[in-house]
Amino acid sequence: MNSSTLLDILADGDFHSGQDLGVRLAVSRTAVWKQIRKLRATGLQIQSVTGKGYRLSSRQGLLRRERILAKLPPELANSLQIELALSIDSTNAEAMRHVQNGLRGPALFVAEQQSAGKGRRGRQWLSPMASNIYMSLVWPFDGSVSTLEGLSLITALAVVDALERNGCNGISVKWPNDVLLGGKKLAGILLELHGDMEGPLQVIVGVGLNVSMPPDQLESLERPATDLVSHFSATFDRNLLLADLVEALFSRLNLFQARGFGAFRKEWEALDSHLGRWVNIESGKNTTTGRVLGVDDSGALRLQTSDGELVIRGGEVQTSLRPVNDASDPVENDNDS
Ligand code: ATP
Repeated sequence: MNSSTLLDILADGDFHSGQDLGVRLAVSRTAVWKQIRKLRATGLQIQSVTGKGYRLSSRQGLLRRERILAKLPPELANSLQIELALSIDSTNAEAMRHVQNGLRGPALFVAEQQSAGKGRRGRQWLSPMASNIYMSLVWPFDGSVSTLEGLSLITALAVVDALERNGCNGISVKWPNDVLLGGKKLAGILLELHGDMEGPLQVIVGVGLNVSMPPDQLESLERPATDLVSHFSATFDRNLLLADLVEALFSRLNLFQARGFGAFRKEWEALDSHLGRWVNIESGKNTTTGRVLGVDDSGALRLQTSDGELVIRGGEVQTSLRPVNDASDPVENDNDS
């Protein structure tokens, strides 16, 4: 017996007695119990009630391959390789291992939990069990690295598309790789590359999207963060959200490959939470202060500084944009990340 078959049965959210599980999986009740203990050790909450049996207590239900496939357009469902893990170090790391072993993509790596979820600059992405979306798409890209400047911005637009399709309004973006809700971080994007920097390349497009974070985990974060369930006081089916996100990514990435970022510039600026605002750009030990003018046709940030207009490229150095909290900041009560 493996844990995914036991999970398949528990995924319906109903009670199943140890005896019933044993019969269906053709193992002893002790073997069932040991497997339940293993699943619990991953952080999955499984209730056990005397006389009734075991039941998954996840509020969100689990990710199911067949539900994701059913929501995808048929041409995608028939061609996309999907790897779904219960627990993994990082979906980006898993995708990279496959790419290093010859995978060319497109392929999708998804997990219910990440034990070492990655942000930029070695930062951690908090990834509790069966709560959120953690996914990495391996995308074959013909162009060179220099044409990829706008890719994290395009990915953010795809996240917004999927959220809007699921009735979530009020989403904004922050250069270069964040998606915000009510000014708080809702999703993070991590891009990694493999191959010849002059092209062709495999791009690993990683997205972490908070759907239903345990409140104590949200509060443990250094900067304000939020999730869909607490913000909208509604429930979300992660399977449907994930399928919409994958579809939106395919659509945006195909257009980006054909037309470049320029075609999306205005759309991105209309969602930019920091447009017209004073910010500090932290890059290594250097901080540059200026007012955000928008982005250029490559996706680089345009900043008005005391020395004139500066163009800041996210691909060259890992930069962080922070609002300026002083008298020159035209926006009050900034609690942005
Ligand atoms: P910034 O631009 O805000 O400095 P970043 O873009 O460099 O951040 P990311 O790499 O996107 O950061 O994400 C890592 C950071 O995000 C962590 O340092 C932590 O503060 C925050 N974080 C980690 N997990 C989550 C989560 N699940 N939801 C929201 N924020 C998170």
